[in-house]
Amino acid sequence: MAMQSPPSSNAAPVRRAVIFLGPPGSGKGTQSKELVKVLRVPHLSTGDMFRENIARRTPLGLAAKPLLERGELVPDDITLGMVEQRIAQPDAANGFVFDGFPRTLNQAERLNELLERRGFGKPAVLHIVVPEGLLLRRLTGRRVCSIGGEIYHIDEHPPKVPGRCDVDGGELIHRPDDREEVIRERLAEYERKTRPLAEYYRRQGALVDVDGARPLADVTRALLAALEQKPS
Ligand code: AMP
Repeated sequence: MAMQSPPSSNAAPVRRAVIFLGPPGSGKGTQSKELVKVLRVPHLSTGDMFRENIARRTPLGLAAKPLLERGELVPDDITLGMVEQRIAQPDAANGFVFDGFPRTLNQAERLNELLERRGFGKPAVLHIVVPEGLLLRRLTGRRVCSIGGEIYHIDEHPPKVPGRCDVDGGELIHRPDDREEVIRERLAEYERKTRPLAEYYRRQGALVDVDGARPLADVTRALLAALEQKPS
């Protein structure tokens, strides 16, 4: 399914933190990348940051590598230190969209403190809800561009030329942690450690549920509408 230009919205620009919450395969990556085109703020994926560190063989990357390979979460202190540094960069001064962060209650609580210190209000939390059966199918069929990170699906959103990115011609890869046994561990980690965040943010009045089982562009529109209804 080809994505047209992003829907226009008067939600832009914002000075706030937007958080995507949802299990692996719910579409956080795809949708958060669409949203930042409209909001014009940086896309901050902690998973991408870890993968970049692994590729560059930094000490942080070496510590994170075995955990990513097993589908387990990286310890909070490492993750929070990396995020704190990233949001102190000038391009993040007007807000940002988190993809894959926070993933534990401790991360969420410490993020709230961090946001307050940096003069941001309460985050807007977009909770993407997708039936479980769809997640495994989406993840096993997912392919990611090795250059720009564009996301495809072999059936639902195939590239024009098999194995090549439509945008920059980069080779499409099957993430090693998108193999079925690792996916099961990632989903279990989500249930154990991340799902409680939905209630945490719901109690704060910060969360909006969005049905993520619809076509890509419909979900993007629903997310933008949810943000407009939820000025922080
Ligand atoms: P993702 O690309 O968001 O699916 O993340 C890939 C992997 O990176 C996860 O399975 C974790 O091992 C690690 N990771 C990403 N974000 C976090 C986080 N907020 N806390 C801990 N580990 C994370």
